[in-house]
Amino acid sequence: MSGLGKGVMTSSVAKLLQLANQKVSCVKIDPYLNFDAGTMNPVAHGEVFVTEDGGECDMDIGNYERFLNQNIPKNHNITTAQVYSSVIESERKGEYLGACVQIIPHITDEIKNRIRTIAKDENLDFLVVECGGTVGDIESLPFLEALRQMRVEEGPKNVLFVHVTLAPSLDVVGEQKTKPTQHSVQELRRIGIQPDFLAVRCTQPLEEKTKKKIALFTNVTSEDVLSCHDAKTIFEVPQILYDQGILDFIFTKFGKVGMVNASANWDDWNRIAESMVNHKDQKIKIAMVGKYVTLADSYVSVNQALKHAGAKLGKSVIIDWIDSESINDYNQLSDFDGILVPGGFGTRGSEGIIKTANFARENNIPYLGICFGFQLAAIAFGREILKLEDANSTEIKKDAKNPVVDLLPEQKKISDMGGSLRLGGHQITIKPNTISQVIYESNSIKKRHRHRYEINSNYIEEFEKNGMIFSAESDDGKRMEILEIPSHKFYLGVQFHPEFNSRPGFPEKAFLSFIEAASK
Ligand code: GLN
Repeated sequence: MSGLGKGVMTSSVAKLLQLANQKVSCVKIDPYLNFDAGTMNPVAHGEVFVTEDGGECDMDIGNYERFLNQNIPKNHNITTAQVYSSVIESERKGEYLGACVQIIPHITDEIKNRIRTIAKDENLDFLVVECGGTVGDIESLPFLEALRQMRVEEGPKNVLFVHVTLAPSLDVVGEQKTKPTQHSVQELRRIGIQPDFLAVRCTQPLEEKTKKKIALFTNVTSEDVLSCHDAKTIFEVPQILYDQGILDFIFTKFGKVGMVNASANWDDWNRIAESMVNHKDQKIKIAMVGKYVTLADSYVSVNQALKHAGAKLGKSVIIDWIDSESINDYNQLSDFDGILVPGGFGTRGSEGIIKTANFARENNIPYLGICFGFQLAAIAFGREILKLEDANSTEIKKDAKNPVVDLLPEQKKISDMGGSLRLGGHQITIKPNTISQVIYESNSIKKRHRHRYEINSNYIEEFEKNGMIFSAESDDGKRMEILEIPSHKFYLGVQFHPEFNSRPGFPEKAFLSFIEAASK
């Protein structure tokens, strides 16, 4: 089921293989009918993760990037819509001329082909494929069938299955229940897949007797039943799995024993994992003000980036989410060391964000505005300092008298909502002698984007005369990328999404500077 930790399991297995010097990557299969995650509500499905090559992907891709510290291309997020679209396209071109096009073999072939292409093109030793959904879902059946076929075609020394299940503890005594695991494995075996390992999610370490019982009912040995109990941080999970011998088991099953050294880079990784939990001396309180605050996963990369920055500085970052729609006493924001406004869309809650940006500026509270938080900070400045009547974004008010933020010109002709924003990595030029240059220690950076609106350049001169500097730009100066107020303790807005580049041990620099400023 969702939320169980398949993403963490996938990332952890991949991390262990990477630590053993294997060339590894991950794939996420999403059996839903959306072409990609771009049009999905982050409150229901979690954040839309943007890849360097402009994919709007499932948030698990972000987990893979953070665990592996490597970019994952967008073709690593496979959805039902993508698979069916290419099969239907081929059918229309006449590529299957004469054949009746069917789920088996045409859809399953396309799935296998996509997985094999990635493994081959990237010259990987291992590809860890996460199949989303729940065993027994109609939607995931073609994918599981394709994976079943793959095991037959590639042989058991080249494909193995890990099944992630749940052992709930129901009563105060905490007896670990095995029934859900028994049933999901039965379901999996009915469709022809016998798992090699069971990764069992539980609150406390799985007891020996529970392991034995699960093994008996699911046709594996009790060593193949792995305890995936709750950890202080998800970055501890590779170690938890390693301690149970998973790496040896994998190499044994793949016939690679003796060919690999599984201890190569443990030190660095464990130092990073430890830094994510052990910071005692100072707590930094950050208010995150936005619209999608009801689900922690809707800003998972922002949360993570804040924690990476805190960990680097040896401080704990405590995040409080505040709904920009219901905030009425802005003085509550004085209790925080910093205010962050993440990305967002639409009218709802936008006035609350504009007031928040104002409050941070007036009260000299460190402020980091990302995308929407960048645009609305400019609007707040326009309204309060420049006294621009009815300053707004045309996203919020179509006929605003002062459209400080307006649609990107190339967006004016676009009507499709899916995949049509300005997406992915774009080169950005930073002006000399600016705060941004100090933060990024460079005049040129590449950052990921996801937006349809931008700062209207007609206003820039007036803004700059009054103390808000646009210190970075892209597309030959056409597009404003960073705003800063040099007289402020820390006031930075970025059109891009720095959170997607932050990795444990390697915090993104805007986040690092923000947390540094917040801790002073
Ligand atoms: N809604 C704004 C835009 O489309 C900001 C997008 C965002 O915050 N990701 O430009």
